[in-house]
Amino acid sequence: MTAAKTKNIPRDPVWYPFTQMAEFLEASPLAIAAAEGCWLIDAAGNRYLDGVSSLWANVHGHRHPVIDAAVRAQLDRVAHSTMLGLSHAGGIELARQLAELAPAGLSRVFYSDSGATAVEIALKMAYQYWQLKGEHQKRLFLKMGEAYHGDTIGAVSLGGMDLFHERFGGLLFDSIKIPTPHLYRHPFGNCSEAEATQRFFDQSAAIIRQHAGQACAVVVEPIMQGAAGMIVHPEGFLRHLRELTREHGLLLIADEVAVGFGRTGRMFACEWEEVAPDLMCLGKGITGGYLPLAATLATEEIFSAFLGEFAELKTFFHGHTYTGNPLACVAALASLEIFRTERTLAPDVFGPKAAAYTAGMARLARLPHVGSARFRGLMGGVELVRNRESGEPYPFAERRGHQVALAARKHGVLLRPLGDVVVLLPPLAVSLAELEHLFYGAEKAIVAVTGS
Ligand SMILES: *Cc1c(COP(=O)(O)O)cnc(C)c1O
Repeated sequence: MTAAKTKNIPRDPVWYPFTQMAEFLEASPLAIAAAEGCWLIDAAGNRYLDGVSSLWANVHGHRHPVIDAAVRAQLDRVAHSTMLGLSHAGGIELARQLAELAPAGLSRVFYSDSGATAVEIALKMAYQYWQLKGEHQKRLFLKMGEAYHGDTIGAVSLGGMDLFHERFGGLLFDSIKIPTPHLYRHPFGNCSEAEATQRFFDQSAAIIRQHAGQACAVVVEPIMQGAAGMIVHPEGFLRHLRELTREHGLLLIADEVAVGFGRTGRMFACEWEEVAPDLMCLGKGITGGYLPLAATLATEEIFSAFLGEFAELKTFFHGHTYTGNPLACVAALASLEIFRTERTLAPDVFGPKAAAYTAGMARLARLPHVGSARFRGLMGGVELVRNRESGEPYPFAERRGHQVALAARKHGVLLRPLGDVVVLLPPLAVSLAELEHLFYGAEKAIVAVTGS
């Protein structure tokens, strides 16, 4: 290795996720030393608004006294005991509350520790379910184009983002893509949104019909595909998938890892279309953004297919060391309590924030290099484009989104983009003044990087 190259290797031994390590030169990334409410504080005491909720996880703000107290109290009892063969009160109570809150019929809760594992579990449950029903030919998964379900191999197999996933093609199992109903960039040429929507509905129906005999499930991020660039599905699309999966005998797996726990303005995004999936994956915001926990919810129909004598080998053979960790479960219970006591999603509490967020988005949408502003509730982003009329993107290597995130730091805002989509996803606890700060910082940064 040449001297010039070794010089670029950071001294800090951490290999960071989703990061080109040669980029850091000698410096590590900005280190966060503390937090307070919706603000992150670095070692020098600089304060930044947490504009992406610490990767879409934080809900009620950092160091919320109710969650802090719940975790501290649990530390005085036990930090971890296994759920393989043992149980604990917090895990049971949380499962009871999740089943109560979830769309109708999701009565069973299987814990794990990340969104990706929640998806792995759902896909293995769906697969084994059809085997147990004697439908051995039902092995194929249908997924959305540009889907993101996590970075483990099963979850990547259900993903559709070539940028992250293509390299691992040889390791993945086959699946069938349903085109993402993305109205900003659709392949149908010059037609109205209504026509494009209809074409997408027809395409998905045809694909599901074609593969129904061999397929075990359709997997979808309901209402909004987050990592794909905050793509909002046209109204009725989720219900359309639910009707088609019912009609053709497929399971519907809803990955609510990103959209769950209030992000879109409802506790679960499925509620917008009154859809009850067969399996539902939860992660990210489940503990209020405090600790790693995830859950896969299943219907009684699926759960009961796995019941039998031990020797029949119907058992779901899956588990993780930290499955249902007690500290994480009490954090999750405290988060649900805050939803009740602070009435986080009540119209008089959430409504004004959603209105301010909408106004902020409208302001950004008027900037000359913002091609599209897409959001639902407090979850969304704006897409930067070189040419607003044609929608022509910036060259990939220019990394405009990344530059905007760096520029926003100067205005006391931490952002993390998805390519050229500047994500704006504050904690639900954000105040109106903090929203103003977020959009002001984002606007200044976008103007600095793209020109006004
Ligand atoms: C983040 C995300 C995942 C993966 O969750 P991890 O906890 O990062 O493994 C899965 N699905 C969706 C929709 C996500 O946004």
